[in-house]
Amino acid sequence: MAFNNKNIFQKIFYREPHKHREPAFRYFFLIRIIPCLFAVNIFFIFYSCLQAEPARSEFTLGTLCSVNLYEQGNNDVYKEIFDRIREIENLMSVNIPSSDISLINAAAGIAPVKVHEETFNVIKNAVYYARLSDGAFDPSIGPIVSLWGIGNDEPRHEQLTHVPGREEIEKLLPLVNWHFIRLYEDTSSVFFIHEGMALDLGAIAKGYAADEAAKIIERAGIKRALIDLGGNIIVAGVKKDRKPWRVGVQSPDKARGETIGYLQITTLTAEQEESLPVKTIVTSGTYERFFEENGIRYHHIFDPSLGYPVQNGIISVTVIADVSMDADALSTAAFVLGYERGSALVESITGTEAVFVFDDKSIRQTSGANFILTDKTYNIKY
Ligand code: AMP
Ligand code: MG
Repeated sequence: MAFNNKNIFQKIFYREPHKHREPAFRYFFLIRIIPCLFAVNIFFIFYSCLQAEPARSEFTLGTLCSVNLYEQGNNDVYKEIFDRIREIENLMSVNIPSSDISLINAAAGIAPVKVHEETFNVIKNAVYYARLSDGAFDPSIGPIVSLWGIGNDEPRHEQLTHVPGREEIEKLLPLVNWHFIRLYEDTSSVFFIHEGMALDLGAIAKGYAADEAAKIIERAGIKRALIDLGGNIIVAGVKKDRKPWRVGVQSPDKARGETIGYLQITTLTAEQEESLPVKTIVTSGTYERFFEENGIRYHHIFDPSLGYPVQNGIISVTVIADVSMDADALSTAAFVLGYERGSALVESITGTEAVFVFDDKSIRQTSGANFILTDKTYNIKY
């Protein structure tokens, strides 16, 4: 039997001419079916509004950046955050030729460069931490970072897999000195007094970007969030169960995400509830970027007085603070200073703590850090 498509089609979509519907059927259709369809529609519209957008990760600032807005996850807020992070990258990355930093570097020894106010403020903070750390943190480390080629994801030179010659390092070392940076507040201008000098904000800019992301989250009325810009973490708000946040400390010798323990972070105090309470946890670690030669790990955190990666037994320093830009600068500074001077510096700043992990698998922490060890191959020293 031939299948009559036309008939089926007509049955479904065409009202048969001259044939009146039963009044009871019409009543049923108008009073029951239409309101039901309407209600189902409204339900789906509401349901889709209530559905939170999941956490978002994007590659920016030379690293993987993730933001989780939990139950208030919202496309517009995620977009605003990542647009803002890219804006900061475009101003402060040494790898972007039009950035403020590249312009300052190109004009080193020639002329001051007027920069955006926020770039100026981050540089001012970097210089503040250079002074505070007695030059252990030095934003003029640029020439050494470029020479080794392990500080950036997109090095201007070929990625080095060997140690540069001592003469090359010694030729550049005199150019690494934060005292040679001139800051002109009235015109937001920055000047390097010697040609060949170069700024590198790699140890502080991610922290600044995380702080800016947290501001957007607060303005959007988000109550709880987690920001992770390649290890620069901010926890914002209070967890649903009102328990402290648990932030893992990366295991130096295992895959990313595997931890040796965690920090218990309390964001809530009674008087803080008005604004969005935040805490930041920032780690500087040798395992972030490195290469190995003759059994020695050459990583991306340099001793500005030597021009070599710091070799002082530290594998990572994690700093806990209120402002991520401060924690970022401090974690790098404390790493270079070593445990004695680094922990003294951190202890001298109220509300700031640190956890040091050493290559002999020992761990030390400042007096108020709340580190819980889970990997028993490590041991906490008091
Ligand atoms: P962080 O991971 O925050 O410790 O920053 C490391 C990055 O900061 C490196 O990739 C370099 O770009 C830069 N850097 C390395 N050593 C220093 C230093 N002693 N002071 C300031 N910046 C540094
Ligand atoms: Mg840092």
